[in-house]
Order: sequence, then structure tokens, then C-alpha cells
Amino acid sequence: MNTICNNCKSNKIVTGVRITDLGEVNVKNDLSLEIYKNPDALFFKGTTRYKLKAKVCCSCGTVETYIDNPEELWRTYQNNKNS
Ligand SMILES: [Zn+2]
Repeated sequence: MNTICNNCKSNKIVTGVRITDLGEVNVKNDLSLEIYKNPDALFFKGTTRYKLKAKVCCSCGTVETYIDNPEELWRTYQNNKNS
């Protein structure tokens, strides 16, 4: 992963930062992307989730988000289109 800030070109970059939200009874939840495995199914569409992670520039404060397994998301998306 690119460890230079796209905004200010600093190399003071922290990656892999969790992005959380507090759910019921203050349980921490990772924010995530979610797509259906079988969007055309009447029931049991099934979902695949991808935890959002952050890359933070500690010079200017710019935050970028990413997922660890983009290839898997792409394969699921392609399978959905072709089914
Ligand atoms: Zn920066």
C-alpha cells in the first residue's frame, strides 16, 4: 500500500486503523461494506461483508478508507452479474 499522503505528500502514515461505531449496549462494530451473494434469490440472498479500514495521514489529517480483500469483492460482483 502507498504510504505517502496523496494530499500533502507526507510519509507520516498510519494504516490498518479500525473504523468503529457503537451499537446496542455499546458494542463496538466495525464499519463495513456489504454486498449480496445472491441478489436475485427470493430468500437467503446472503451477504458478504468487508471491514472498512483507514489510512490516516498524521501530518494533515487526511483519512482514506480501503478494504483488505478487494479481489474477493470483485469476484462476488462478477458472479452476481453473470448469474
Ligand atoms: Zn497528508
